[in-house]
Amino acid sequence: MLSGWREVMARRPWRISAKLLIISSVVTVIGFSAICVNVMLDMRRGEEALARQTLENLATTIESDISRNIEIYDLSLKAVASNMLLPELATVSKPVRHLILFDHATTARHFGAIQVYDSEGRLTIDASTLDPSPENRGDEDYFRVHRDNPGAGLFISRPMLFRGAYSIVLSRRISDTDGGFLGVVTGSIRFSYFHELFERLSLDPEDTITVLKRDRTIMMRRPFDLDVIGRNLNDRQNWKADNLRAGTSYAGQGPVDTTPRLYVRSNGDSPLFVVAGKPLSAVFELWQKEAYRIGAVVLALIVFMLASTLVLAREIGRRAEAERKLEELATTDALTGLKNRRKFDTVIDVEWRRAMRQKTPVALLMIDADHFKAYNDTFGHQAGDQVLVGIAICISDSVRRAGDCAARYGGEEFAVLLPDTSAADAFKTAETIRLKVQGWSDDQAASTVSCGIASLVPAAGMDWTILVAAADKALYAAKAGGRNQSVVASLPKLSLVA
Ligand code: GH3
Ligand code: MG
Ligand code: MG
Repeated sequence: MLSGWREVMARRPWRISAKLLIISSVVTVIGFSAICVNVMLDMRRGEEALARQTLENLATTIESDISRNIEIYDLSLKAVASNMLLPELATVSKPVRHLILFDHATTARHFGAIQVYDSEGRLTIDASTLDPSPENRGDEDYFRVHRDNPGAGLFISRPMLFRGAYSIVLSRRISDTDGGFLGVVTGSIRFSYFHELFERLSLDPEDTITVLKRDRTIMMRRPFDLDVIGRNLNDRQNWKADNLRAGTSYAGQGPVDTTPRLYVRSNGDSPLFVVAGKPLSAVFELWQKEAYRIGAVVLALIVFMLASTLVLAREIGRRAEAERKLEELATTDALTGLKNRRKFDTVIDVEWRRAMRQKTPVALLMIDADHFKAYNDTFGHQAGDQVLVGIAICISDSVRRAGDCAARYGGEEFAVLLPDTSAADAFKTAETIRLKVQGWSDDQAASTVSCGIASLVPAAGMDWTILVAAADKALYAAKAGGRNQSVVASLPKLSLVA
Protein backbone atom coordinates (compact mmCIF):
# COMPACT_ATOMS: atom_id res chain seq x y z
CA MET A 1 0.00 0.00 0.00
CA LEU A 2 2.69 2.41 1.13
CA SER A 3 5.03 1.48 -1.69
CA GLY A 4 2.17 2.02 -4.17
CA TRP A 5 1.69 5.50 -2.82
CA ARG A 6 5.40 6.14 -3.10
CA GLU A 7 5.31 5.08 -6.71
CA VAL A 8 2.45 7.47 -7.44
CA MET A 9 4.36 10.26 -5.72
CA ALA A 10 7.44 9.40 -7.70
CA ARG A 11 5.52 9.38 -10.94
CA ARG A 12 3.32 12.48 -10.50
CA PRO A 13 4.76 14.63 -7.73
CA TRP A 14 3.68 17.97 -9.27
CA ARG A 15 0.07 17.17 -9.95
CA ILE A 16 -0.52 16.17 -6.34
CA SER A 17 1.24 19.32 -5.15
CA ALA A 18 -1.06 21.49 -7.31
CA LYS A 19 -4.12 19.89 -5.79
CA LEU A 20 -2.66 20.23 -2.30
CA LEU A 21 -1.88 23.88 -2.98
CA ILE A 22 -5.46 24.60 -4.09
CA ILE A 23 -6.96 22.66 -1.18
CA SER A 24 -4.73 24.35 1.39
CA SER A 25 -5.48 27.79 -0.11
CA VAL A 26 -9.22 27.17 -0.03
CA VAL A 27 -9.01 25.86 3.55
CA THR A 28 -6.94 28.90 4.54
CA VAL A 29 -9.43 31.26 2.87
CA ILE A 30 -12.40 29.57 4.56
CA GLY A 31 -10.66 29.60 7.95
CA PHE A 32 -9.53 33.19 7.55
CA SER A 33 -13.01 34.32 6.46
CA ALA A 34 -14.62 32.48 9.36
CA ILE A 35 -12.29 34.23 11.82
CA CYS A 36 -12.99 37.63 10.21
CA VAL A 37 -16.76 37.10 10.25
CA ASN A 38 -16.56 36.01 13.88
CA VAL A 39 -14.50 39.04 14.87
CA MET A 40 -16.88 41.38 13.03
CA LEU A 41 -19.94 39.79 14.63
CA ASP A 42 -18.25 40.16 18.02
CA MET A 43 -17.63 43.83 17.27
CA ARG A 44 -21.28 44.20 16.30
CA ARG A 45 -22.44 42.58 19.51
CA GLY A 46 -20.10 44.90 21.41
CA GLU A 47 -21.55 47.98 19.70
CA GLU A 48 -25.07 46.80 20.45
CA ALA A 49 -24.23 46.12 24.10
CA LEU A 50 -22.68 49.58 24.44
CA ALA A 51 -25.70 51.26 22.85
CA ARG A 52 -28.05 49.25 25.05
CA GLN A 53 -26.16 50.30 28.16
CA THR A 54 -26.14 53.98 27.11
CA LEU A 55 -29.87 53.91 26.33
CA GLU A 56 -30.66 52.11 29.56
CA ASN A 57 -28.71 54.71 31.54
CA LEU A 58 -30.50 57.50 29.69
CA ALA A 59 -33.95 55.98 30.22
CA THR A 60 -33.26 55.25 33.87
CA THR A 61 -31.99 58.79 34.49
CA ILE A 62 -35.12 60.28 32.90
CA GLU A 63 -37.34 57.90 34.84
CA SER A 64 -35.74 58.84 38.15
CA ASP A 65 -36.09 62.57 37.40
CA ILE A 66 -39.78 62.13 36.61
CA SER A 67 -40.40 59.87 39.61
CA ARG A 68 -38.57 62.25 41.96
CA ASN A 69 -40.77 65.13 40.82
CA ILE A 70 -43.92 63.05 41.12
CA GLU A 71 -42.83 61.97 44.59
CA ILE A 72 -42.19 65.54 45.75
CA TYR A 73 -45.49 66.68 44.32
CA ASP A 74 -47.27 63.71 45.87
CA LEU A 75 -45.90 64.66 49.30
CA SER A 76 -47.66 68.02 48.94
CA LEU A 77 -50.91 66.32 47.89
CA LYS A 78 -50.68 63.96 50.88
CA ALA A 79 -50.05 66.90 53.21
CA VAL A 80 -53.08 68.74 51.86
CA ALA A 81 -55.24 65.59 52.13
CA SER A 82 -54.33 65.08 55.78
CA ASN A 83 -54.51 68.80 56.68
CA MET A 84 -58.01 68.94 55.26
CA LEU A 85 -59.08 66.90 58.29
CA LEU A 86 -57.93 69.56 60.77
CA PRO A 87 -61.05 70.79 62.60
CA GLU A 88 -59.57 74.32 62.90
CA LEU A 89 -59.67 74.69 59.13
CA ALA A 90 -63.38 75.52 59.18
CA THR A 91 -62.92 78.31 61.68
CA VAL A 92 -59.99 80.23 60.19
CA SER A 93 -60.07 82.80 57.43
CA LYS A 94 -59.31 81.89 53.81
CA PRO A 95 -55.76 83.36 53.79
CA VAL A 96 -54.90 81.43 56.97
CA ARG A 97 -56.41 78.26 55.50
CA HIS A 98 -54.21 78.76 52.44
CA LEU A 99 -51.20 79.15 54.68
CA ILE A 100 -52.03 75.96 56.55
CA LEU A 101 -52.73 73.90 53.46
CA PHE A 102 -50.24 75.15 50.92
CA ASP A 103 -47.39 76.77 52.84
CA HIS A 104 -45.17 73.75 52.43
CA ALA A 105 -46.63 72.72 49.09
CA THR A 106 -44.20 72.44 46.28
CA THR A 107 -44.46 75.11 43.70
CA ALA A 108 -42.46 74.90 40.54
CA ARG A 109 -42.71 76.27 37.06
CA HIS A 110 -44.20 73.14 35.53
CA PHE A 111 -46.52 72.23 38.38
CA GLY A 112 -50.12 73.39 38.23
CA ALA A 113 -51.88 74.75 41.31
CA ILE A 114 -53.11 72.24 43.86
CA GLN A 115 -56.91 72.07 44.03
CA VAL A 116 -59.37 70.47 46.38
CA TYR A 117 -62.73 69.10 45.24
CA ASP A 118 -65.54 68.09 47.59
CA SER A 119 -67.32 64.76 47.55
CA GLU A 120 -69.58 65.97 44.74
CA GLY A 121 -66.71 67.04 42.54
CA ARG A 122 -67.11 70.77 43.16
CA LEU A 123 -63.97 72.86 43.32
CA THR A 124 -63.70 74.17 46.85
CA ILE A 125 -60.13 75.31 47.34
CA ASP A 126 -57.55 76.43 44.76
CA ALA A 127 -53.96 77.18 45.75
CA SER A 128 -53.72 79.87 43.07
CA THR A 129 -56.66 81.95 44.27
CA LEU A 130 -58.67 82.66 47.36
CA ASP A 131 -61.92 82.78 45.38
CA PRO A 132 -61.98 80.05 42.76
CA SER A 133 -64.70 80.24 40.15
CA PRO A 134 -67.17 77.38 40.50
CA GLU A 135 -66.54 74.28 38.50
CA ASN A 136 -67.39 70.61 38.80
CA ARG A 137 -65.02 67.76 37.97
CA GLY A 138 -67.22 64.97 39.27
CA ASP A 139 -67.12 63.03 36.00
CA GLU A 140 -63.37 63.16 35.46
CA ASP A 141 -61.31 59.96 35.86
CA TYR A 142 -59.10 61.46 38.52
CA PHE A 143 -62.17 62.17 40.64
CA ARG A 144 -64.23 59.05 40.04
CA VAL A 145 -61.38 56.67 40.68
CA HIS A 146 -61.03 57.90 44.27
CA ARG A 147 -64.77 58.12 44.88
CA ASP A 148 -65.24 54.52 43.81
CA ASN A 149 -62.04 53.05 45.24
CA PRO A 150 -60.75 54.07 48.68
CA GLY A 151 -57.39 52.31 48.13
CA ALA A 152 -56.49 53.96 44.81
CA GLY A 153 -53.53 55.86 46.36
CA LEU A 154 -51.82 58.25 43.99
CA PHE A 155 -53.68 58.35 40.68
CA ILE A 156 -51.94 59.55 37.55
CA SER A 157 -54.37 60.52 34.82
CA ARG A 158 -54.12 60.18 31.07
CA PRO A 159 -52.50 63.19 29.40
CA MET A 160 -55.18 65.87 28.97
CA LEU A 161 -55.83 69.54 28.39
CA PHE A 162 -56.01 70.83 31.93
CA ARG A 163 -56.55 74.51 32.68
CA GLY A 164 -55.31 75.54 29.27
CA ALA A 165 -52.12 73.40 29.18
CA TYR A 166 -51.44 69.79 28.25
CA SER A 167 -50.72 68.08 31.53
CA ILE A 168 -50.99 64.91 33.50
CA VAL A 169 -53.12 65.20 36.62
CA LEU A 170 -52.05 63.64 39.92
CA SER A 171 -54.75 63.10 42.50
CA ARG A 172 -55.25 61.67 45.99
CA ARG A 173 -58.36 60.86 47.96
CA ILE A 174 -59.34 62.87 51.01
CA SER A 175 -60.87 60.47 53.51
CA ASP A 176 -62.26 61.21 56.96
CA THR A 177 -61.03 59.25 59.95
CA ASP A 178 -63.54 56.48 59.23
CA GLY A 179 -62.46 56.23 55.62
CA GLY A 180 -65.47 58.10 54.31
CA PHE A 181 -65.07 60.00 51.03
CA LEU A 182 -64.61 63.74 51.55
CA GLY A 183 -63.26 64.66 48.16
CA VAL A 184 -60.12 64.74 46.06
CA VAL A 185 -56.95 66.82 46.02
CA THR A 186 -55.35 67.29 42.60
CA GLY A 187 -52.21 68.68 41.10
CA SER A 188 -50.85 68.68 37.56
CA ILE A 189 -47.52 68.40 35.79
CA ARG A 190 -47.45 70.29 32.51
CA PHE A 191 -45.91 68.88 29.34
CA SER A 192 -43.50 71.80 29.42
CA TYR A 193 -41.72 69.89 32.20
CA PHE A 194 -41.02 66.99 29.80
CA HIS A 195 -40.09 69.31 26.94
CA GLU A 196 -37.55 71.05 29.10
CA LEU A 197 -36.23 67.77 30.47
CA PHE A 198 -35.71 66.35 26.98
CA GLU A 199 -34.15 69.56 25.71
CA ARG A 200 -31.47 69.30 28.36
CA LEU A 201 -30.35 65.96 26.90
CA SER A 202 -28.21 65.80 23.81
CA LEU A 203 -30.17 63.54 21.52
CA ASP A 204 -30.07 62.86 17.79
CA PRO A 205 -33.20 63.88 15.86
CA GLU A 206 -34.09 60.25 15.18
CA ASP A 207 -33.69 59.18 18.83
CA THR A 208 -36.95 58.62 20.69
CA ILE A 209 -37.91 58.92 24.34
CA THR A 210 -41.28 57.47 25.31
CA VAL A 211 -42.76 57.95 28.77
CA LEU A 212 -45.41 55.37 29.56
CA LYS A 213 -47.77 54.48 32.32
CA ARG A 214 -47.67 50.93 33.65
CA ASP A 215 -50.78 50.13 31.57
CA ARG A 216 -48.73 51.05 28.44
CA THR A 217 -50.45 54.42 27.82
CA ILE A 218 -48.07 56.87 26.16
CA MET A 219 -47.82 59.89 28.49
CA MET A 220 -45.20 61.74 26.52
CA ARG A 221 -42.98 61.14 23.56
CA ARG A 222 -40.04 62.75 21.89
CA PRO A 223 -40.24 63.71 19.04
CA PHE A 224 -43.52 65.25 20.22
CA ASP A 225 -46.68 64.31 18.38
CA LEU A 226 -50.04 65.06 19.98
CA ASP A 227 -51.71 62.22 18.07
CA VAL A 228 -49.49 59.68 19.75
CA ILE A 229 -50.01 60.94 23.30
CA GLY A 230 -52.58 58.87 25.16
CA ARG A 231 -52.29 55.87 22.80
CA ASN A 232 -52.22 52.52 24.54
CA LEU A 233 -49.54 50.09 23.37
CA ASN A 234 -50.65 47.00 25.20
CA ASP A 235 -51.69 45.46 21.89
CA ARG A 236 -48.12 45.75 20.55
CA GLN A 237 -46.30 42.47 20.92
CA ASN A 238 -42.95 44.02 21.83
CA TRP A 239 -44.43 46.57 24.23
CA LYS A 240 -46.68 44.24 26.21
CA ALA A 241 -46.15 43.98 29.96
CA ASP A 242 -44.80 40.46 29.57
CA ASN A 243 -42.23 41.42 26.97
CA LEU A 244 -40.90 44.91 27.71
CA ARG A 245 -39.99 44.47 31.35
CA ALA A 246 -37.72 46.75 33.42
CA GLY A 247 -34.20 46.86 31.99
CA THR A 248 -35.02 44.81 28.90
CA SER A 249 -34.68 45.78 25.27
CA TYR A 250 -35.60 44.78 21.75
CA ALA A 251 -34.54 45.71 18.24
CA GLY A 252 -37.22 46.34 15.65
CA GLN A 253 -40.03 48.63 14.65
CA GLY A 254 -41.58 50.98 17.17
CA PRO A 255 -45.23 51.88 17.68
CA VAL A 256 -45.16 55.15 15.76
CA ASP A 257 -42.89 54.98 12.71
CA THR A 258 -41.27 52.25 10.66
CA THR A 259 -37.64 53.10 11.48
CA PRO A 260 -36.05 50.06 13.10
CA ARG A 261 -34.59 51.05 16.43
CA LEU A 262 -33.00 49.56 19.51
CA TYR A 263 -35.56 50.18 22.26
CA VAL A 264 -34.44 49.92 25.88
CA ARG A 265 -36.68 50.24 28.92
CA SER A 266 -35.50 52.02 32.06
CA ASN A 267 -34.52 49.87 34.97
CA GLY A 268 -36.77 51.20 37.73
CA ASP A 269 -40.13 50.61 39.37
CA SER A 270 -41.77 54.04 39.23
CA PRO A 271 -45.40 54.55 38.17
CA LEU A 272 -44.13 56.00 34.91
CA PHE A 273 -41.34 54.30 33.00
CA VAL A 274 -39.25 55.40 30.05
CA VAL A 275 -38.27 53.66 26.82
CA ALA A 276 -35.32 55.14 24.94
CA GLY A 277 -34.91 54.29 21.27
CA LYS A 278 -32.03 54.75 18.86
CA PRO A 279 -32.13 53.89 15.14
CA LEU A 280 -30.20 50.69 14.39
CA SER A 281 -28.49 52.52 11.54
CA ALA A 282 -27.02 54.93 14.10
CA VAL A 283 -26.16 52.15 16.57
CA PHE A 284 -24.20 50.26 13.93
CA GLU A 285 -22.93 53.24 11.94
CA LEU A 286 -19.32 53.00 13.11
CA TRP A 287 -19.36 49.23 13.06
CA GLN A 288 -20.73 49.22 9.53
CA LYS A 289 -17.98 51.52 8.29
CA GLU A 290 -15.36 49.36 9.98
CA ALA A 291 -16.97 46.17 8.66
CA TYR A 292 -16.97 47.52 5.10
CA ARG A 293 -13.34 48.57 5.45
CA ILE A 294 -12.18 45.24 6.91
CA GLY A 295 -14.44 43.32 4.51
CA ALA A 296 -12.94 45.10 1.51
CA VAL A 297 -9.37 44.45 2.67
CA VAL A 298 -10.12 40.79 3.43
CA LEU A 299 -11.90 40.36 0.11
CA ALA A 300 -8.94 41.89 -1.73
CA LEU A 301 -6.57 39.56 0.15
CA ILE A 302 -8.72 36.53 -0.63
CA VAL A 303 -8.97 37.44 -4.31
CA PHE A 304 -5.22 38.01 -4.44
CA MET A 305 -4.53 34.73 -2.67
CA LEU A 306 -6.91 32.72 -4.85
CA ALA A 307 -5.60 34.36 -8.01
CA SER A 308 -1.97 33.62 -7.10
CA THR A 309 -2.95 30.08 -6.14
CA LEU A 310 -4.60 29.55 -9.51
CA VAL A 311 -1.61 31.01 -11.36
CA LEU A 312 0.74 28.84 -9.32
CA ALA A 313 -1.42 25.76 -9.79
CA ARG A 314 -1.54 26.34 -13.53
CA GLU A 315 2.21 26.73 -13.64
CA ILE A 316 2.62 23.57 -11.59
CA GLY A 317 0.24 21.74 -13.92
CA ARG A 318 2.15 22.99 -16.94
CA ARG A 319 5.41 21.81 -15.47
CA ALA A 320 3.89 18.48 -14.56
CA GLU A 321 2.71 18.01 -18.12
CA ALA A 322 6.12 18.96 -19.49
CA GLU A 323 7.75 16.59 -17.05
CA ARG A 324 5.38 13.82 -18.01
CA LYS A 325 6.17 14.35 -21.69
CA LEU A 326 9.85 14.46 -20.95
CA GLU A 327 9.64 11.28 -18.94
CA GLU A 328 7.70 9.63 -21.74
CA LEU A 329 10.36 10.70 -24.23
CA ALA A 330 13.08 9.42 -21.95
CA THR A 331 11.41 6.03 -21.51
CA THR A 332 10.07 5.43 -25.02
CA ASP A 333 11.86 3.90 -27.97
CA ALA A 334 11.75 6.44 -30.77
CA LEU A 335 11.32 3.98 -33.65
CA THR A 336 8.73 1.55 -32.28
CA GLY A 337 6.97 3.54 -29.58
CA LEU A 338 7.51 0.69 -27.11
CA LYS A 339 9.29 1.24 -23.78
CA ASN A 340 13.05 1.51 -24.12
CA ARG A 341 15.70 -0.62 -22.47
CA ARG A 342 16.23 1.80 -19.60
CA LYS A 343 12.56 1.80 -18.71
CA PHE A 344 12.42 -1.97 -19.04
CA ASP A 345 15.27 -2.38 -16.54
CA THR A 346 13.40 -0.18 -14.03
CA VAL A 347 10.12 -2.03 -14.52
CA ILE A 348 11.61 -5.50 -14.25
CA ASP A 349 13.39 -4.44 -11.07
CA VAL A 350 10.12 -3.22 -9.48
CA GLU A 351 8.07 -6.19 -10.67
CA TRP A 352 10.72 -8.68 -9.62
CA ARG A 353 10.68 -7.35 -6.06
CA ARG A 354 6.90 -7.23 -5.95
CA ALA A 355 6.71 -10.84 -7.17
CA MET A 356 9.27 -11.77 -4.51
CA ARG A 357 7.08 -10.16 -1.79
CA GLN A 358 3.84 -11.61 -3.07
CA LYS A 359 5.38 -14.95 -4.03
CA THR A 360 3.85 -14.81 -7.50
CA PRO A 361 5.49 -15.83 -10.79
CA VAL A 362 6.89 -13.30 -13.19
CA ALA A 363 7.33 -14.22 -16.86
CA LEU A 364 9.63 -12.81 -19.51
CA LEU A 365 9.51 -13.21 -23.29
CA MET A 366 12.65 -12.48 -25.31
CA ILE A 367 11.70 -11.99 -28.97
CA ASP A 368 14.23 -11.73 -31.77
CA ALA A 369 13.66 -11.15 -35.50
CA ASP A 370 14.92 -14.04 -37.61
CA HIS A 371 17.61 -13.55 -40.21
CA PHE A 372 17.27 -9.87 -39.88
CA LYS A 373 20.73 -9.04 -41.07
CA ALA A 374 19.90 -10.79 -44.31
CA TYR A 375 16.64 -8.86 -44.54
CA ASN A 376 18.45 -5.59 -44.07
CA ASP A 377 21.00 -6.55 -46.61
CA THR A 378 18.32 -7.49 -49.13
CA PHE A 379 15.70 -4.77 -48.63
CA GLY A 380 17.70 -2.00 -47.02
CA HIS A 381 17.88 -0.59 -43.55
CA GLN A 382 14.72 1.52 -43.86
CA ALA A 383 12.60 -1.45 -44.85
CA GLY A 384 14.16 -3.25 -41.90
CA ASP A 385 13.01 -0.41 -39.65
CA GLN A 386 9.45 -0.80 -40.95
CA VAL A 387 9.57 -4.48 -40.09
CA LEU A 388 10.69 -3.63 -36.58
CA VAL A 389 7.72 -1.23 -36.25
CA GLY A 390 5.42 -3.99 -37.55
CA ILE A 391 6.76 -6.48 -35.01
CA ALA A 392 6.29 -3.85 -32.24
CA ILE A 393 2.63 -3.43 -33.29
CA CYS A 394 2.11 -7.21 -33.22
CA ILE A 395 3.61 -7.31 -29.73
CA SER A 396 1.62 -4.43 -28.25
CA ASP A 397 -1.58 -5.81 -29.84
CA SER A 398 -1.02 -9.08 -27.96
CA VAL A 399 0.03 -7.56 -24.62
CA ARG A 400 -2.83 -5.52 -23.20
CA ARG A 401 -2.93 -6.34 -19.51
CA ALA A 402 -2.17 -3.48 -17.14
CA GLY A 403 1.25 -4.08 -15.61
CA ASP A 404 2.59 -5.90 -18.66
CA CYS A 405 5.61 -4.17 -20.16
CA ALA A 406 6.67 -4.54 -23.80
CA ALA A 407 10.05 -3.01 -24.63
CA ARG A 408 12.59 -2.85 -27.38
CA TYR A 409 15.51 -4.59 -25.76
CA GLY A 410 18.05 -3.62 -28.42
CA GLY A 411 18.51 -3.85 -32.21
CA GLU A 412 15.94 -6.35 -33.51
CA GLU A 413 15.33 -7.83 -30.08
CA PHE A 414 12.23 -7.24 -27.93
CA ALA A 415 11.39 -8.13 -24.32
CA VAL A 416 7.94 -8.56 -22.81
CA LEU A 417 7.54 -8.68 -19.05
CA LEU A 418 4.35 -10.40 -17.84
CA PRO A 419 3.92 -10.15 -14.05
CA ASP A 420 1.89 -12.83 -12.29
CA THR A 421 2.00 -15.10 -15.37
CA SER A 422 2.88 -18.80 -15.52
CA ALA A 423 5.18 -20.25 -18.19
CA ALA A 424 2.20 -21.87 -19.90
CA ASP A 425 0.30 -18.58 -20.17
CA ALA A 426 3.45 -16.77 -21.22
CA PHE A 427 3.97 -19.40 -23.91
CA LYS A 428 0.45 -18.69 -25.20
CA THR A 429 1.20 -14.99 -25.41
CA ALA A 430 4.52 -15.72 -27.16
CA GLU A 431 2.75 -17.89 -29.70
CA THR A 432 0.11 -15.21 -30.28
CA ILE A 433 2.86 -12.73 -31.04
CA ARG A 434 4.82 -15.11 -33.18
CA LEU A 435 1.78 -16.13 -35.24
CA LYS A 436 0.71 -12.53 -35.63
CA VAL A 437 4.16 -11.58 -36.97
CA GLN A 438 4.14 -14.64 -39.20
CA GLY A 439 0.72 -13.79 -40.60
CA TRP A 440 1.73 -10.26 -41.19
CA SER A 441 5.06 -11.20 -42.77
CA ASP A 442 3.32 -13.68 -45.10
CA ASP A 443 1.55 -10.67 -46.61
CA GLN A 444 4.51 -8.34 -46.51
CA ALA A 445 7.41 -10.69 -47.25
CA ALA A 446 8.86 -9.63 -43.89
CA SER A 447 10.61 -11.41 -41.07
CA THR A 448 9.47 -13.98 -38.55
CA VAL A 449 10.37 -14.01 -34.87
CA SER A 450 11.71 -16.53 -32.38
CA CYS A 451 10.65 -16.42 -28.70
CA GLY A 452 12.38 -17.51 -25.55
CA ILE A 453 10.13 -17.83 -22.53
CA ALA A 454 10.94 -18.02 -18.84
CA SER A 455 8.71 -17.76 -15.79
CA LEU A 456 9.64 -18.16 -12.16
CA VAL A 457 8.68 -17.18 -8.64
CA PRO A 458 11.61 -15.14 -7.34
CA ALA A 459 13.16 -16.55 -4.21
CA ALA A 460 14.98 -14.43 -1.64
CA GLY A 461 18.45 -13.44 -2.80
CA MET A 462 17.65 -14.11 -6.46
CA ASP A 463 18.43 -11.44 -9.06
CA TRP A 464 16.23 -10.72 -12.07
CA THR A 465 19.19 -11.26 -14.41
CA ILE A 466 18.53 -14.99 -13.84
CA LEU A 467 15.17 -14.58 -15.52
CA VAL A 468 16.69 -12.65 -18.45
CA ALA A 469 19.44 -15.21 -18.86
CA ALA A 470 16.91 -18.06 -18.80
CA ALA A 471 14.69 -16.40 -21.40
CA ASP A 472 17.76 -15.61 -23.52
CA LYS A 473 18.85 -19.22 -23.30
CA ALA A 474 15.40 -20.36 -24.42
CA LEU A 475 15.58 -17.88 -27.31
CA TYR A 476 18.90 -19.35 -28.33
CA ALA A 477 17.27 -22.78 -28.24
CA ALA A 478 14.44 -21.51 -30.45
CA LYS A 479 16.98 -20.18 -32.96
CA ALA A 480 18.86 -23.40 -32.84
CA GLY A 481 15.65 -25.32 -33.25
CA GLY A 482 15.00 -23.71 -36.62
CA ARG A 483 13.63 -20.23 -35.76
CA ASN A 484 10.00 -18.97 -35.99
CA GLN A 485 9.12 -20.86 -32.84
CA SER A 486 8.67 -20.36 -29.06
CA VAL A 487 10.66 -22.27 -26.47
CA VAL A 488 10.09 -22.34 -22.72
CA ALA A 489 13.22 -22.30 -20.60
CA SER A 490 13.81 -25.33 -18.45
CA LEU A 491 14.48 -24.06 -14.96
CA PRO A 492 15.29 -25.89 -11.72
CA LYS A 493 12.16 -27.51 -10.29
CA LEU A 494 12.00 -25.17 -7.31
CA SER A 495 11.46 -22.00 -9.26
CA LEU A 496 9.85 -23.28 -12.45
CA VAL A 497 6.21 -22.51 -12.82
CA ALA A 498 4.44 -24.32 -15.60
P1 GH3 B 1 19.21 -14.45 -36.26
O1 GH3 B 1 18.04 -15.08 -36.95
O2 GH3 B 1 20.17 -15.44 -35.77
O3 GH3 B 1 18.76 -13.54 -35.20
O4 GH3 B 1 19.96 -13.67 -37.41
P2 GH3 B 1 20.03 -12.10 -37.48
O5 GH3 B 1 20.55 -11.74 -38.78
O6 GH3 B 1 18.68 -11.50 -37.17
O7 GH3 B 1 21.02 -11.78 -36.34
P3 GH3 B 1 22.22 -10.81 -36.20
O8 GH3 B 1 22.41 -10.54 -34.76
O9 GH3 B 1 23.36 -11.41 -36.97
O10 GH3 B 1 21.83 -9.52 -36.92
C1 GH3 B 1 21.04 -8.54 -36.32
C2 GH3 B 1 20.81 -7.52 -37.34
O11 GH3 B 1 19.73 -6.65 -36.97
C3 GH3 B 1 22.01 -6.65 -37.50
C4 GH3 B 1 21.45 -5.31 -37.88
O12 GH3 B 1 21.66 -5.03 -39.24
C5 GH3 B 1 19.99 -5.45 -37.67
N1 GH3 B 1 19.54 -4.38 -36.87
C6 GH3 B 1 19.78 -4.12 -35.59
N2 GH3 B 1 19.14 -2.97 -35.22
C7 GH3 B 1 18.49 -2.51 -36.29
C8 GH3 B 1 17.68 -1.39 -36.53
O13 GH3 B 1 17.43 -0.56 -35.67
N3 GH3 B 1 17.16 -1.23 -37.78
C9 GH3 B 1 17.40 -2.10 -38.74
N4 GH3 B 1 16.86 -1.91 -39.94
N5 GH3 B 1 18.15 -3.16 -38.54
C10 GH3 B 1 18.72 -3.36 -37.34
MG1 MG C 1 17.92 -11.77 -35.14
MG1 MG D 1 19.66 -10.47 -32.38
